[in-house]
Parts: sequence; structure tokens; C-alpha cells
Amino acid sequence: MRLASKIALVTGAGSGIGRAIAVRCAQEGAAVAVLDQDAESADRTAVAIAKDGGDALALVADVSSASQVEGACMTIAERWGRLDILVNSAGIFLANRGDTLVTELDEAIWDRVLAVNLKGVYLCCKYAIPLIGPGGSIVNIASIAALIGRDTAQAYVAAKGGVVALTRSLAVQYAPRGIRANAILPGRVDTPLVQHDYASDEDREAFARSHPLGRFGRPEDIAHLALYLASEEASWVTGAEYVIDGGYTAL
Ligand code: NAD
Repeated sequence: MRLASKIALVTGAGSGIGRAIAVRCAQEGAAVAVLDQDAESADRTAVAIAKDGGDALALVADVSSASQVEGACMTIAERWGRLDILVNSAGIFLANRGDTLVTELDEAIWDRVLAVNLKGVYLCCKYAIPLIGPGGSIVNIASIAALIGRDTAQAYVAAKGGVVALTRSLAVQYAPRGIRANAILPGRVDTPLVQHDYASDEDREAFARSHPLGRFGRPEDIAHLALYLASEEASWVTGAEYVIDGGYTAL
């Protein structure tokens, strides 16, 4: 068991990448706080973990709300008294839903995307890090959108760039306390987040084939990497950015 006796908080754990990470962490022995703004999906993940014999607690919170994040962290403190792993996966992607070119981008959309995808990471760090001791690990799910220019979703791009920069800085700031921080930059992963981003099934297939490895990522692909970064196998890894994209940015 690679995470035996560890306590993990995974945000956005009701779906997609966050869910796969929560399940993988539990399979490796961690007790997992499954946080999502959607109560039903948080419960579904927690029940699935418990059914497999794991220890999970569903927490409902909007990561962009300081009071809700603080409340969730207080619940973790009451239940387990500490935290070892924080995975920030909660996020929204509003391409084709208003997140577009800067000249056409509504301020409210910009504010919402930055509030969830960047401020949410700051808030979860703010309230979770005080519970994390030496040997702790923060894993932030950014995106290859932080690396490449896009012709849409400018708020998303800016938020994810911010997450990468913040992660690097968290690494420097908390290394003296023995806490590591790393960013994962996934390419396109098959989850509900991106289902609205294809004009047609053909468009979707063509995009998948355009990856050197010929397919989109699966949430489990990202979970394997997150598990490594969360575990003590990565005890000398901090401030790093891991691209995982089927070769898309290597083209
Ligand atoms: P998903 O939609 O499957 O899951 C996201 C989860 O976050 C959902 O359960 C949702 O309810 C939750 N969530 C959204 N806003 C929230 C909020 N304010 N507070 C709490 N929970 C909230 O998406 P996913 O693909 O698993 O995305 C996870 C992360 O990976 C996101 O940060 C996303 O930007 C990033 N990412 C995804 C892809 C991709 O292609 N799917 C690529 C790169 C990066």
C-alpha cells in the first residue's frame, strides 16, 4: 500500500479526474475526503470507495467560497485531526459557453472561471495546508492550456497558467516545512468537462486521432501520476510540472 495511513483531500472528486484520483488513493490505503460542489456525485464516489473497503467522507463545498472551504477543512480536522495529501482537481471549462476570445469575453464569465479554477486552488491551500505536516504533498491539476495558445477559452488559459505559477511558488514556500507541491498538466481527457467541446462525433474522433498516441486520456492515466506525486516515491520531487497528454504538445 503506497499511501497507508495517509489522509487525502481531493477536490472535484465527484467526477472525472478527481474521482479517479480519489479512488486510486483509497486503493493504496489513504482515507479520502471526497469534496465536490455536487452532493450526489460526492456521495457516489464516497460510497464506491467504502464499498471497496476504503475510508471516505463526502464533503459538499464550492471551492470558490472561503467559508465553505474553511468549513470542509474543519470537518476533516474533526474527523482525522490532520491531512497529508491535497489534490486540487475541481474545475470548470466554459469553451463554447462564453469563455472565448478576450474581446468577446464577458467579465462575469472571466470572474467565474478564475474564481473556481485559480482562486479555488488558493482557498483550498489556505485552509488545508495548516493541517498538513512534514511529508505532505499538494498536487494541482492544471492543464496543457497553460503552455499553448488557444483560439478560445482565454479565462481558462489564464487560470491554468496561474495554477502552474502558484504551484511552483507553493513548492518554494513550504519546502522548509517538508511539504511538496507539483502540478499535473493534462491534455484532453475523456470526462464530462469537455463533452460540449466537439462540433460532431467525427470532430471528436479526429481530435483523438490527432494525438501521437491516437487517443484521449482516461481519468485513470492522470490518477497514476497523481498517486506517484502524492506518495513518498516522489519525496525529492517538488515545484515540477508534469505534462501528460498522449504526446499532443510534443508535435
Ligand atoms: P469533471 O467535470 O469530470 O469533474 C470536475 C468536478 O469538479 C465535478 O464533479 C464538478 O462538480 C466539480 N466542481 C466544479 N466546480 C466546482 C466548485 N466550484 N467547487 C467544487 N467542485 C466543483 O472534469 P475533469 O475533466 O475531471 O476536470 C478535473 C480537472 O482537470 C479540472 O481542473 C480541469 O480543468 C482539469 N483538466 C481537465 C482536462 C480534460 O480534458 N478533461 C484537461 C486538462 C485539465
